[in-house]
Amino acid sequence: MSDTIRRTGGCLCGGVTFAVTGEPVRVGLCHCKDCRKAGGSVFSAFAIWPRRAFEMTGIVSSYGTRSFCPTCGGRVAWVDDKEAEVMIGSLDIAPSDLAPQYELWIGRRETWLHALPGTKQFAHDRDAPDDGDSAAVTPPPGAVAID
Ligand SMILES: [Zn+2]
Ligand SMILES: [Zn+2]
Repeated sequence: MSDTIRRTGGCLCGGVTFAVTGEPVRVGLCHCKDCRKAGGSVFSAFAIWPRRAFEMTGIVSSYGTRSFCPTCGGRVAWVDDKEAEVMIGSLDIAPSDLAPQYELWIGRRETWLHALPGTKQFAHDRDAPDDGDSAAVTPPPGAVAID
């Protein structure tokens, strides 16, 4: 049980910090227009944890479901009742062990980028429901729920 991983992260100025416990449910890349406009980069790289595995400190502003630091504008997380989506670049330790498993909105991928080998490719959002219900995902051994 002591091997449950806990990753910390935060915004650029440090006003907002967060932690996620256990391994993410899934990791992906998205090339959609919303992600571009929200982050300013040509794609976003994110990982999704069950909502209960996510804790945050600090004050955030939000636009729709996307939250960000009101001081530095750093994106923090997208949170709903079930899940928390974290931009993996906001983690404190480089997320080399969080390799994306899929790509979304590949029609909008820049022509000078290539599909990430070994990842599932989606024209738009994931056309799950095969793995779309996080309740069906078995948590990794030793995962600890934080309530
Ligand atoms: Zn900040
Ligand atoms: Zn997107």
